[in-house]
Amino acid sequence: MMEAPPALALDRVERRYHQGEATLEILRGADLQLLPGQSVALIAPSGAGKSTLLHVAGLLEKPDAGEVHVGAEATARMADRRRTAIRRLHIGFVYQFHHLLPEFSALENVVLPQLIRGLPREEARARAQQLLEYLGLGHRLQHRPMELSGGEQQRVAIARAVANAPRVLLADEPTGNLDPHTAEHVFSTLTTLVEASGLAALVATHNLELAKRMSRRVTLQEGRIVELT
Ligand code: ADP
Repeated sequence: MMEAPPALALDRVERRYHQGEATLEILRGADLQLLPGQSVALIAPSGAGKSTLLHVAGLLEKPDAGEVHVGAEATARMADRRRTAIRRLHIGFVYQFHHLLPEFSALENVVLPQLIRGLPREEARARAQQLLEYLGLGHRLQHRPMELSGGEQQRVAIARAVANAPRVLLADEPTGNLDPHTAEHVFSTLTTLVEASGLAALVATHNLELAKRMSRRVTLQEGRIVELT
C-alpha cells in the first residue's frame, strides 16, 4: 500500500537572524515530514529554535533557504498573499496562552474563524457545537473565556484552531500553563482529535511524559531535526 503523502514537509530549511554584526544560524538544514494522523512532539531546550521552526512551518516566517510543503504546495517562493491563504486554509495554531476573544462565548470563538473563511453562519455554528461537544465542552458553549477553567480555555483554543479543518496543527507549549492533571486531559483530547481527524500535529513541549504518548518525538540539534527514540 502506498503511504499517504506528508501533510507538511520541511526540506533543508535554513533560518538565520542578524543581530548587529552577528548572525545567528537557528535552523541549519532542518528536515521534517508530518504524515496525516501523526502527532509529533518537538522537545528541545529553550533557545534551540522551536518557535522559529513552528513559525516557518506555519508560514508565518519565510525560510532563508530550503522549502516548506503544505500538502503538495511548495510555499517558500510564493507571494505573501498566497502563503497567507494557504495558512488560513490548512494550518491551525495553538499557543501557550489561549488568545480567545474575551467578549465572545466559547461557541462564538469557534464560529468566527469559519465565518471569516466564508462559511454560512448555521453551518459554522453546527460545526463549532459538534467540535466543542467532541472536546467535552458541550455544557460550556455559552461561557465566556473568563468563566472557563484553564483546561477548558485550552480545549476551546484547540477547537478554534481546527474549526476550518486544517491539514496541520502547530502548537507551542499548549499545556505549559496548566497543572499536570489538566495538561494530561487537554493532551489526550488533542491526540485523540488528531488520530480521528487525520490532521498532522507538531507540538513543542517540555513535558516528556506527554510526549511519550505521541506518534514520534524529535529534537533540534545544531539547527537540524533529530528523531528521538
Ligand atoms: P525556542 O522556541 O526553542 O526557545 P526560538 O526559536 O524562540 O527558540 O529562538 C531561537 C534563537 O533565535 C534564540 O536565541 C532567539 O534569541 C533567536 N531569535 C528568535 N527570533 C529572533 C528574531 N526575530 N531576531 C533575532 N533573534 C531571534
